[in-house]
Amino acid sequence: MFKKILYLLAFVFFLIFAWLILKNTDLNTFIDVIENRTFDLRQNIMINEGVKKHNDNIVIVAIDDASYEYILDHYGEWPLPRDIYAKLVDYLELQKPQIIAFDLMFVKSMKSDYNADLELANTFKKYNNVFTSMNFDNQPEELRIPPTLPKKLSINLKNNSNIDFSELTYTNCRTILSDILNATSNVGIINVSRSDDGVLRKMPVLVQYKKDFYPQLATKVGIKYLEDIENQKINSLELSENSILSLGNRNIFLDKDGSAILNWYGPAGTYTYIPMYQLIKAANNEKTNLDYNFNNKIVYFGTTASSLFDIKTVPTGKVYPGVEVQATYVNNIIDNNFIKKVNKSTTLIISMLLAVIIATIVIKLNSAFIASISSLSIYFIYLLISYYTMRFCDLWLELIYPLIFSILAFTLAFIVKYLIKSRDFEAQYKLATTDGLTELYNHRYFQEQMKMQVEQSKRYENNFSLIIIDIDFFKKFNDSFGHQSGDAVLRQVAFTLKKNVRATDIVCRYGGEEMSIILPNTSKEEAHATAEKICKKVAERPFKLVNGKECNVTISLGVATYPFDGENASSIIEVADNRLYKAKNNGRNQVG
Ligand code: GH3
Ligand code: MG
Ligand code: MG
Repeated sequence: MFKKILYLLAFVFFLIFAWLILKNTDLNTFIDVIENRTFDLRQNIMINEGVKKHNDNIVIVAIDDASYEYILDHYGEWPLPRDIYAKLVDYLELQKPQIIAFDLMFVKSMKSDYNADLELANTFKKYNNVFTSMNFDNQPEELRIPPTLPKKLSINLKNNSNIDFSELTYTNCRTILSDILNATSNVGIINVSRSDDGVLRKMPVLVQYKKDFYPQLATKVGIKYLEDIENQKINSLELSENSILSLGNRNIFLDKDGSAILNWYGPAGTYTYIPMYQLIKAANNEKTNLDYNFNNKIVYFGTTASSLFDIKTVPTGKVYPGVEVQATYVNNIIDNNFIKKVNKSTTLIISMLLAVIIATIVIKLNSAFIASISSLSIYFIYLLISYYTMRFCDLWLELIYPLIFSILAFTLAFIVKYLIKSRDFEAQYKLATTDGLTELYNHRYFQEQMKMQVEQSKRYENNFSLIIIDIDFFKKFNDSFGHQSGDAVLRQVAFTLKKNVRATDIVCRYGGEEMSIILPNTSKEEAHATAEKICKKVAERPFKLVNGKECNVTISLGVATYPFDGENASSIIEVADNRLYKAKNNGRNQVG
């Protein structure tokens, strides 16, 4: 019963603590930040183990520091005149690349040259595998009138999920050259989403603007890849109830904010970088050491030069160019390995399960050490499982809630176990020191206490007394009324003794029908008075027999006091015994 109540109480405490943890939003944010770090750790271990191989067909043409200097040297300023890009595209298209995507926005600019811009727009018209970017934001209308975008840029989305797109709904947009917008529908957005700690772990697949959905540049590039390489026809996107966006036969699992969690392939520089200046030289028929075949490649243009760099912090590196995030995203589509994060309720079920296992181990195992090691091992096994599910199933099992719940269960189980043990100990102590029939202290306890009293009285120069009691003619009593009634009388005598002494006095069953009382700090006279009183009380009171009748019983008593009657326990007992014997000889029912 006690155990059951304790278990129930611990369970209730567990639920209350768990509820408090889940309710506290600040704590949740903190937990999420640490959880994200565990994601980074797993991703980095995978990369260090060489599990992840990026796709060699994705190549980055980087406007790096060297290219930036080259551009300033040869064209005098940044941005580069747009006809140069047109020239580069023409040059690359000769090698038949799969896709060319600019992680660059061709916005209206004071410095732009109309004819150069037009040339680039015509290039977009010429090739259906060239993509560029735009970016939504929430700039106020006074600053920039929100442009109307051609319908062809948006995508038909069937949204059956309960994803709240409010965070991914924008009110304004950088205006891309209208000639380019008219020339092509190959324009994707390059908005990013960051976690609470500022790290970019996921990317929005689509964003909403004026009620329409616009896909991420990498989403568009991915669709183009699937259409061209795998002959899949993707006219619309469908977002299922469980937040899976199907891209042909690829699945993108969206987080609750509508973003896709990326699987990372390595630190910055994982994908092949071709410095753009080499490409410009090659396109201009200048001598260059560019030795790269762009045939069938997905070519991403982007900046990595320190002065132009759009720096992102990602799980696998502190400095990461946005263009490589795009490359990673496309690579995830090709490999169909976006991360799927288990939902909160599954995490809670896992956490509870671990808590139950750990609590059971702690309670069942006798050794606290082994219980601790086992609990740690269980959690460690869970860590390993979570690593392998990410490695082989792209599944993100959360670690921090299970850890907190496990620690909570571990602690509560230990407290429960301690309480049960201490109660068992008390019960056993009582069993070892008391007499079952009379519930007085037993002979062993009496002997211990006698020795202790002698020690204490010696130390503090005190006295103490001992009364030994023996019931008169008890053999006869048993013979007349039976042993059952004898036992009943023994219990009643014990009760009378306890009732008539001080709380500090120790009443024991000395043996058979003999009892003893140790009276700490009590003089000979006081002890005598107590003995007389007890003798009278016993003689006066009626004793109930088992048959319901009553009768009278008397006792004889012997008193001895330390240090007058003896210096040690046995001599005091002997003197008290002798005086009891005298009382018997003098006619019983008296103090000797
Ligand atoms: P006296 O006045 O000289 O003490 O006579 P007595 O018959 O009481 O003699 P003694 O003290 O030697 O007797 C011990 C008797 O007490 C023997 C036994 O029948 C009885 N007795 C001892 N322990 C128990 C017990 O636990 N239950 C019962 N019913 N009787 C007990
Ligand atoms: Mg006796
Ligand atoms: Mg007796």
